[in-house]
Amino acid sequence: MSLKNKDLAELMDKVVKRNPGEPEFHQAVQEVLESLEPVVEKYPEYLTSGVMDRLVEPERILKFRVPWVDDNGKVQVNRGFRIQFNSAIGPYKGGLRFHPSVYEGIIKFLGFEQIFKNSLTGLPIGGGKGGSDFDPKGKSDGEVMRFCQSFMTELQRVIGADTDVPAGDIGVGGREIGYMYGQYKRLRNEYTGVLTGKGLTYGGSLARTEATGYGLCYFTEEMLQDKGDSFKGKTVVISGSGNVAIYATQKATQLGGKVVALSDSNGYIHDPEGIDLDAVKQIKEVERKRIKEYLNYRPNATYTEGCKGIWTIPCDVALPCATQNELDEASAKALVANGVKAVAEGANMPSTPEAIEVFQSNGVLFGPAKAANAGGVATSALEMTQNSMRLSWTFEEVDQKLHDIMKGIYKNARDAAKEFGMEDNFVAGANIAGFLKVADAMKAQGVV
Ligand code: NDP
Repeated sequence: MSLKNKDLAELMDKVVKRNPGEPEFHQAVQEVLESLEPVVEKYPEYLTSGVMDRLVEPERILKFRVPWVDDNGKVQVNRGFRIQFNSAIGPYKGGLRFHPSVYEGIIKFLGFEQIFKNSLTGLPIGGGKGGSDFDPKGKSDGEVMRFCQSFMTELQRVIGADTDVPAGDIGVGGREIGYMYGQYKRLRNEYTGVLTGKGLTYGGSLARTEATGYGLCYFTEEMLQDKGDSFKGKTVVISGSGNVAIYATQKATQLGGKVVALSDSNGYIHDPEGIDLDAVKQIKEVERKRIKEYLNYRPNATYTEGCKGIWTIPCDVALPCATQNELDEASAKALVANGVKAVAEGANMPSTPEAIEVFQSNGVLFGPAKAANAGGVATSALEMTQNSMRLSWTFEEVDQKLHDIMKGIYKNARDAAKEFGMEDNFVAGANIAGFLKVADAMKAQGVV
């Protein structure tokens, strides 16, 4: 879809020219600008005050060398990034991704999305993102530790509990956060909540590990309930088998759904009797092995090489929880043909624009990542609060707050879509609701 508003169309052209070779970033900006067309028509001051021009330009980009020594004594060099995108409503907040596909464009797209997601949570957090092209897969614990220490030695210059608070993302879980936190503390000689997703013995929050997956299911349940439906009795397909996918599986099952498929970057498993989550946790969280090992636990399940086929499995609810652009138009059509009722994004930007169009034009309830997976960062912000207060809330307290936040996000996205004449378009609703708070804060703070 092209932009009808002349000023926004020009801005989009400028973004493409100034950020060459970064298609993921262009895709993320294009989607947001499309949603904001009715907003700037109604409130042209967002254009005249330069809010839009500033919004698409990161406040700061740090790019650095990460040298480390592997187990054979060989020097390895990776690239590190931290993009501090927007601090209008709070300190920069957003995860770190360690994956070979990481380059500036990926971090920029994720940092841009994070601005609106963080705003939607209702909590005072700005948008940022970081990471490295380092691949933790197949590395020893010692190698991962040395890499994390080197990465943090550089990153510590720009982060801080009131400045920028990174968290985990793909390839960055409790182990990596622990190594980075240890190095930060050693270099700075201070014990502050500078990272979230920490272990429970050193300042982590209960329910943070579960938060993104749980929050995704709370959001999906809200969408379904608004239409008089629920997870009960639904067949659910979830892609990925990492942090988000595992805890989405747990919550969807608790809410009465039956999860029948999961995947990793090699292939997918289909277990029509319902996924045995203990087996998946053993394989993925303890042994760090491939999802095909699942057949050793459940011989009646099937394993198929390649990821895309997972969307041909008939289901009522689909939750893409692996990576960007994993669900394309053909996959969306297959889901629709099999009668899918709701799709909600656990991963960031997993559906292509063409796939979203297929869902929306066929009346499928569609929960975009910015809203549906915001439970992770919201709970990270709750971890920051507990760190500042020097206390720990119970699992139930954090989970209750998460649940309330997800209900609030759903309501805000739904109401914003309605206000601008796009009922049930949660993509537009989430972009608009997230934008308005940030834009008003930017306007109030002058040209900075
Ligand atoms: P993990 O590293 O724990 O798991 C990622 C999963 O996705 C793995 O199963 C991985 O398989 C699979 N995957 C990764 N890249 C690809 C690829 N190119 N093709 C197919 N599968 C792939 O990450 P998370 O679960 O934390 O993150 C998953 C998604 O959720 C990401 O988009 C992330 O940005 C998003 N997200 C995460 C949050 C969090 O709190 N963790 C918060 C909000 C969003 P393999 O092991 O084979 O690589």
